[in-house]
Amino acid sequence: MQLIIDLIHKKGAITVAEFMEIAMYQPEQGYYINCNPLGKDGDFITSPEISQLFGEIIGIYVADTWLKLGAPKLFHLIELGPGKGTLMFDLLRATKHVDGLHQAMQIHLVERNHYLAKVQKKALSNLRVTWHKTLDSIQLNAPIIIIANEFFDCLPINQYIKLQNKWYERLITLKGSNYCFTTSDISTEIGIHPHAKESDILEICYAASDMIKYISKILKQNSGHALIIDYGYYYDPSNRKIYGETLQAIKNHKFHSFFQDVGKADLTAHVDFTNLKQVALENNILVNGPLSQQEFLITYGINIRAEILKQHASLEQKAEINLALNRLTKEMGQLFKAIELKIK
Ligand code: SAH
Repeated sequence: MQLIIDLIHKKGAITVAEFMEIAMYQPEQGYYINCNPLGKDGDFITSPEISQLFGEIIGIYVADTWLKLGAPKLFHLIELGPGKGTLMFDLLRATKHVDGLHQAMQIHLVERNHYLAKVQKKALSNLRVTWHKTLDSIQLNAPIIIIANEFFDCLPINQYIKLQNKWYERLITLKGSNYCFTTSDISTEIGIHPHAKESDILEICYAASDMIKYISKILKQNSGHALIIDYGYYYDPSNRKIYGETLQAIKNHKFHSFFQDVGKADLTAHVDFTNLKQVALENNILVNGPLSQQEFLITYGINIRAEILKQHASLEQKAEINLALNRLTKEMGQLFKAIELKIK
C-alpha cells in the first residue's frame, strides 16, 4: 500500500498499530472502509452468519437486561461493528413479543465501513435505526445496552518483544520493496513480567482500553450494560504466563501472510480479556466473566432454542441446526469469550 510505504520512507519504521490503522481504516483504501469481509464470498464468517440462533440468544440477553434495568420506557441499544446487520435482525425477530421492549428501544449502529453500512440499511429497512461512525458521536439521554461481537479484535495493537530483560517495540520497515519486522532502538517500560521469556511477544491494544474507558463513562452517566464477545485470551493478572503473537491476516477464509495484499486482507489480533476487565474495574464498573462463549450461550438457552427450532424443521434443517450448534458452542466455544460490564 503506497501510503504505508511513504510513511515508512519518511519515518524509517512504523509501529504495528500504525500499519494496521492505515491498512484497515485509511479512507480510500482501508480494508474496513470499503471491503465486504463477511460471509461465504468474503474473508471470514462470524457467529451471527453461522446461525440465527446466535442473534436470537443475544436477543434474550437484551430482553433480560432491559428487564433488569427496570424496563425503562426509553433505552439505547447500541451495536458496535454490526457486520451485515444479521445479529440485530435476528435479535429483533426473537424479541418482538416482549411487551414494551421494541417501543422502548432506540437502535444505534456504529460502523466505519461504508459498504457494510449499506448492507445493514437493506437488512434493517423499515426500522428506526441510526448510524454513527464512532460511539462518542451518539447523543445519550437514557439507559444503554451495548453489544459488540467480533469488534474488539479489529482494533490496532502494538507489539513488544523481550530482549535481554528489556521490552522493545516491534516495528515494521522495508527491506528493498518488502515489508519486514524490526525492533526499536530504545526500550519501553511496560510493567513487570517475571514469567516472560527471552523473545516473548507482548501485545497491547490501547484502542481497546480507550474504548472500555469510554463505555465505562457512558454506563455510569446513563446506567446500563455492555456485552462483548470475541476470540481472545484471559490470564490471572498477578501471575501472567501467557505471551505470544496473535496478530493474523485472513483472506478467503484462510490464514494469509501478514504483509501480502495489505488493505485487501483482514488483520486482527486476539482480544486481551484480562485487560478489558482490568480497565473496566479501574473505572468502577462491575464485570461478569469472561465466560466461554459455550457457557454464555448455554446459560441464555441456546440448547432449548435449538430444540424449538427443530420441532418445525425438515431432516436437512435439523442437521444444519445441529451443525451450527456444535460450531457455536463446541468448535468456537472456548476460544470465544463473553464479558459483561455493568454499573454498580
Ligand atoms: N458483529 C458482526 C461483524 C464483525 S466484523 C458479526 O458478528 O457478524 C467487524 C465489524 O466491525 C465490521 O462491521 C467492521 O466494519 C466493523 N468495524 C471494525 N472496526 C471498526 C471501528 N473502529 N469502528 C466501527 N466499526 C468498526
